[in-house]
Amino acid sequence: MFNLILFGPPGSGKGTQSMKIAEKYGLEHISTGEIFRNEIRNKTTIGLKVKNIIESGELVTDELLLEILQYELKKHKDIKGFIFDGYPRTLVQAGHLDQLMEEMNMKISYVISLDVHDDELISRLLLRAKETNRSDDTEEVIKQRLVVYNSQTKPLIDYYSKQKKLLKIHGIGSIDDIFRNITYEIDNH
Ligand code: ADP
Repeated sequence: MFNLILFGPPGSGKGTQSMKIAEKYGLEHISTGEIFRNEIRNKTTIGLKVKNIIESGELVTDELLLEILQYELKKHKDIKGFIFDGYPRTLVQAGHLDQLMEEMNMKISYVISLDVHDDELISRLLLRAKETNRSDDTEEVIKQRLVVYNSQTKPLIDYYSKQKKLLKIHGIGSIDDIFRNITYEIDNH
């Protein structure tokens, strides 16, 4: 199996690139952000639980993410692999993922890290705020998401770099150029 993590700050293009990667390599795309947006839209118990957290730019608890991950990993059988988008976002989550993968005789092959500086992220997210109605895309919440990213998620770069799984990609340019760089890195490792 071939399992990838697409890693990067909010606004780095994880969603767009993961869908393209999933299609090219035939992987199952797991976006925790999308899962939560669906739950909120359908007003499920999980949706009601996470709505306020997400709308304030904070992270949903590691325990709830673990339940979702277990469910998703078991749901998909006989597949070529997974691409995780938006998971893991904390060191605890990374530990959970490693543990679950080991139990299921799987492993993470690579972690693709999209590198984009803060000014670019803020302007992309503000633009997206105008174009969509994602309720967590307001200026105040965007700033909070970046604060949370820098304190809780960024340390994962070190975690995966120590495991020698990190592939760094310059995340500025056209969607197609970035995608070409990603596939080049994957195919030449
Ligand atoms: P972004 O565009 O900021 O990368 P996502 O669409 O991946 O955002 O996720 C939206 C929100 O859902 C996050 O800001 C967070 O509140 C919640 N969320 C998604 N994935 C996780 C996770 N792995 N751990 C905790 N919270 C999460």
